[in-house]
Amino acid sequence: MNDQLVIDKVTVTYDNVAAILKASFSLAEGEIGCLLGPSGCGKTTLLRAIAGFEPVIEGSVSLHGKSISTAKYTQAPEDRAVGMVFQDFALFPHLNVSKNIGFGLSKMPAKQRDDRINKMLALVSLGDSAEKFPHELSGGQQQRVALARALAPNPQILLLDEPFSNLDAELRTQLATEVRTLLKENKVTALMVTHDQDEAFAMADKIALLNGGKIVQVDAPYQLYHKPSSLFAADFIGKGSVINVGIDAAGLLGNNLGSLSIQTLPKDLGNTVKLLVRPDDVTYDKTSDTKLPIISKAFLGPNYLYELALTDGQCVPCLTQSHIDIPIGETLPVRFDLRHVVIFNGE
Ligand code: ATP
Repeated sequence: MNDQLVIDKVTVTYDNVAAILKASFSLAEGEIGCLLGPSGCGKTTLLRAIAGFEPVIEGSVSLHGKSISTAKYTQAPEDRAVGMVFQDFALFPHLNVSKNIGFGLSKMPAKQRDDRINKMLALVSLGDSAEKFPHELSGGQQQRVALARALAPNPQILLLDEPFSNLDAELRTQLATEVRTLLKENKVTALMVTHDQDEAFAMADKIALLNGGKIVQVDAPYQLYHKPSSLFAADFIGKGSVINVGIDAAGLLGNNLGSLSIQTLPKDLGNTVKLLVRPDDVTYDKTSDTKLPIISKAFLGPNYLYELALTDGQCVPCLTQSHIDIPIGETLPVRFDLRHVVIFNGE
């Protein structure tokens, strides 16, 4: 597969302070990437550097084999074959849907432009809203118009900056899934910024996790969730608790957690490890002798998420079906499933 976007050791500064430091990342043609991380980690800065709104002071950005940003040269945003979708939709309020979508196509002959607009309207399932104005549309529909407008000039890459964050939670994940299907069907290469991991999981083939201006891990969503490479990633991605546990040479863990197979353990572990325990690593089992006090519980509809205390007071999560309804203060019989557990050195 050819790399469509290559970011190579890119540094971006504001007033001599690095907001992005030596970031490297690439996307193959048709691949959907996501820049994910906490507020202020530099996601938008990196996206703006790709779009040409921020110069890079080190490294390079290339699109389709052509260098578009280096320390010496920044190609103007309007000359990059880049489409952008913003958080606030940014539609023109006085133009109807068709005219909004056709805005960037002024150089096309009229017939070709109309055909393209109709194709885009069909693509985002808004064929019957062509004459409507933005205020007559729902938030989700407005964002679909913004998407159609960005895709109309056939960009080499689509950049999306928190595109769903003005929508309510349920619509957000639904639209993220819809947009992914649409981009995949049309083989569009896209890069989205978000701080919402559900959105990132729903959209991305590949996620770059950022912390403090650095890319700390690039992986598929599954890998990032199950094989976080750092405590930061383990903590930021998904639900779970990181607990400190003693471990002996045979792999036996303290806190009555059971044993780990020593063959699968990193070689340089000390006497204490940090264990990432996900809610699905702790299973309700009414026949189990391990009974842990319930500290708190949250009703999630199909499930309860329990927080349980270990013998030393540290807490672990446990996800059960919601008909397993046991009061706080009583105990829950559980089994630990340590096959997929993630371990870090305790030091
Ligand atoms: P959020 O999720 O809150 O939007 P982000 O990850 O997109 O955050 P950026 O907006 O890229 O983060 O900001 C990265 C860092 O750069 C922050 O410390 C921010 O304060 C700083 N920063 C961003 N824009 C500017 C600017 N125009 N001038 C100076 N500093 C800036």
